[in-house]
Amino acid sequence: MKRFEPIAKGVSGILHGGDYNPEQWLKWKDGIWKEDLRIAKEAGLNSLSVGIFSWAMLEPEEGRFCFDWLDEVMDGLHKNGLTAVLATPSGARPAWLAQKYPEVLRVRADGHRNAFGGRHNHCLSSQVYRAKVKIINTELARRYGKHPALGLWHISNEYSGECHCPLCQAVFREYLRAKYGSLEALNEAWWSAFWSHRYTDFAQIEAPSPRGENDTHGLTLDWKRFTTEQTVDFYLHEIGPLKACAPQIPCTTNLMAGYTGLDYARLAEVLDVVSWDNYPQWTGSSEKDEQIALETGYFHDLMYGLKKKPFLLMESSPSATNWRPVAKLHRPGVHILQSLQAIAHGADSVQYFQMRKGRGGSEKFHGAVIDHVGHENTRVFGEIKKFGREILPQLDHIVGAPKPAKVALVHDYVNGWAIEGMRGALQGETGYTKTLMAHYGAFWRQGVPVEIIDQGASLEGYALVVAPMSYMLREGFADRVKAYVEGGGRFVTSYFSGYVNDTDLCFLGGFPGPLKEVLGIWAEELDALYPGDENAICWNGKQYRAFELCELIHAQGAEALGSYAGDFYAGRPALTAMTLGKGKAYYIAARTGADFLDDFYQSLLGELKLPAYPGGGGLSVQIRAHEKGETLFVINFGAQERLFKLDGEEIPVEAHGFALIERKS
Ligand SMILES: [Zn+2]
Repeated sequence: MKRFEPIAKGVSGILHGGDYNPEQWLKWKDGIWKEDLRIAKEAGLNSLSVGIFSWAMLEPEEGRFCFDWLDEVMDGLHKNGLTAVLATPSGARPAWLAQKYPEVLRVRADGHRNAFGGRHNHCLSSQVYRAKVKIINTELARRYGKHPALGLWHISNEYSGECHCPLCQAVFREYLRAKYGSLEALNEAWWSAFWSHRYTDFAQIEAPSPRGENDTHGLTLDWKRFTTEQTVDFYLHEIGPLKACAPQIPCTTNLMAGYTGLDYARLAEVLDVVSWDNYPQWTGSSEKDEQIALETGYFHDLMYGLKKKPFLLMESSPSATNWRPVAKLHRPGVHILQSLQAIAHGADSVQYFQMRKGRGGSEKFHGAVIDHVGHENTRVFGEIKKFGREILPQLDHIVGAPKPAKVALVHDYVNGWAIEGMRGALQGETGYTKTLMAHYGAFWRQGVPVEIIDQGASLEGYALVVAPMSYMLREGFADRVKAYVEGGGRFVTSYFSGYVNDTDLCFLGGFPGPLKEVLGIWAEELDALYPGDENAICWNGKQYRAFELCELIHAQGAEALGSYAGDFYAGRPALTAMTLGKGKAYYIAARTGADFLDDFYQSLLGELKLPAYPGGGGLSVQIRAHEKGETLFVINFGAQERLFKLDGEEIPVEAHGFALIERKS
């Protein structure tokens, strides 16, 4: 098996570093900068990310550039054996830029233009902004593209939000014109005869907003798709000069896993590597932290699945996260568990926000490698050093190693938008991500690796594909599901699937629309239960809680495996299996708890004979397959010692501890 290539140039092991803002300490650089580099090496760091919000220091006046300080920083990193993750500075713009060219500032959905300040406060359509970004990026690329410290480009920061300015509205209309070709096609796709919303001129169309139209779901979906495409286009605009000067240096932009404003599956197509910022809110309570570990594992897998290859953890807090309502300290050992968890799920880096706490600004109390005290004799530093010096060197062989999975879970951003916007059985929180995490939990507890994909991904090679709440069926997905099941795959979906097409128009002829044949059912009605109301599913001699959403289905070719226990639909099917070709498709008609999902998926996993490494009680088991075999990451997020059983042996894993187990192939 080949040795996998590291993601960043010049680093042979796991990337270990963080966001570093030396420009905040320019005045004190003779002392502070030297200490930063000394302490970085002491901690076992091998990289630092620089320049993320440095525009005003790099170009203090329009067209006047000051690179001396960054030259010194880059040279210092290189002399000390540290790799630079160098950012483009577009995430926050200098005051002079906003003052001279107000069009670069973002316009909110209420129609008001923002004042200068904050971050992510710029218009992606402004040609002025694009021109200024191109100039500064070109300067950076020319100056540092061949610098020996440079290992990776960090494009902007956490792309997010949307702009409603006239420039963006105009580009949106062009996007719609290109997509639909005619107003007639657009009106049909958006069902605009409703409430007399028929458009007779593209100029009449405005982005959805509370001051205008907010309930034409086709419009809302297209606006979100457009916002993603604008971001993709802006990213490509940003990397143009970098790729021209330094084609060998990979580019990424840091994502935020819970963020739903962009279709990350689309954005990931243009990234060389996915990276993301992870800030789990550990509580210190065993039960809550088990759930947080599960959710964090889910987000890691979501990021891995975007390119089906290792990703970078670009930011994490080594202790308190100051923008949380309660910035609880990481308990001893938690920093190491959180960092190992990222690697276990496919990360090839552990990066912190931040290297040194600033004296001012809104993140001055956010966790850091170096605290305000200025030296390294702190509890937090001790954990970072232990991780960097004692644990990471054991993991060099993991770099680039994939995280193989035979189970796929379908998390589709566009479907998520559609569910969020629909006015149906539930208003407000409809629980798409919560439901996906509930299904994911059944595999997490069993130590069965899961790959998270979207509806556009290939289903080939998976033994099981789980796609709960597939409300919107994007073009081609139902056909791929059918071919997958006929070819021997197992497919599981749930209530609220197969309701609408790409533009949120309901399928006619009965739900689940194009999935009716493969599932062998007709979903006639969807019942929403009030909080506290319950029904139950009877299956395999047991009764399981059903709540919130119960769908009334008919088996039409499928076998009814389970049925409702109560209400006027007692006795009707609640769990079905359809045999089609060599495979089977299952339908879970109601929202259930973890007890049902655990039992149901365990029975499926048993049939499929997939390898499982059950943990339970906060014990997570993940696998990375490398050139010599595989590494099992056994991590105990609980406050009690657990026994991990492997090949007849019992391996004790202490509370908030871990075991790294090598298995030869
Ligand atoms: Zn704009």
